[in-house]
Amino acid sequence: IAIVTGGTRGIGAAISKALKQEGYRVIANYAGNDEAAHKFKADTGIDVRKWDVSDYAACESNLKAIENEIGPIDTLVNNAGITRDAMFHKMTPEHWYQVINTNLNSLFNMTRPLWDGMRARNFGRIICISSINGQKGQMGQANYSAAKAGDIGFVKALAQEGAAKGITVNAICPGYIGTEMVLAVPKDVLEKRILPHIPVGRLGEPEEIARCVVFLASDQSGFITGATLTANGGQ
Ligand code: NDP
Repeated sequence: IAIVTGGTRGIGAAISKALKQEGYRVIANYAGNDEAAHKFKADTGIDVRKWDVSDYAACESNLKAIENEIGPIDTLVNNAGITRDAMFHKMTPEHWYQVINTNLNSLFNMTRPLWDGMRARNFGRIICISSINGQKGQMGQANYSAAKAGDIGFVKALAQEGAAKGITVNAICPGYIGTEMVLAVPKDVLEKRILPHIPVGRLGEPEEIARCVVFLASDQSGFITGATLTANGGQ
């Protein structure tokens, strides 16, 4: 059983579908876009559940309900994320806290309720979708880069705790992937400032990140933990 946060759109939707294809029973979480979630469910047959991953109590109660109803969750993909970009001199506390709460605090909120069960069963796969901008920083994204760099620290520390219990914890750092998040960037910024810096010469596809998740989630990837898998077209 795999749970994918933000699993109904963009990269998360590709991850949900790829895991289903591999034979996982997948639950795709989302925040509020019911229309997209219902369409995703109708198209794929994948179960969707709405709650806010920045809310610890909501994560705990929903995960408990899913485990009671369906069974133990062995694979967690922390994918949900948002941007609230602004140059730092214009960044508000709301910009800062929304991004930290959704992109970083969610890792605690989702992982903590599942951790004891994974430890007891001596198996778990935790995969966190960080970002190239957590590795290198990005103008206008002090909040996002801080959260995404935080993801990597979380993974490295927790990997050490999970290792003796068969739980692997890894990060994937996508470069620019053609989802709504990136297509929301103004066209001239995309064409003049982003694409010329991608050696492969194009945006990545959500499915290219989903393949990384399938690889790390596999039973055969047990020796890979605390790692950062970079998929960014050579950047
Ligand atoms: P999208 O904006 O396309 O999709 C985001 C998904 O996350 C949606 O399903 C959304 O739900 C969900 N979500 C957002 N906030 C919450 C919340 N508080 N609780 C639960 N679910 C939430 O994003 P992408 O597919 O582009 O990005 C996915 C991940 O990959 C993010 O972590 C992002 O930072 C990271 N990433 C993306 C890159 C890119 O180029 N696109 C590059 C590097 C990293 P709803 O549909 O209800 O809004």
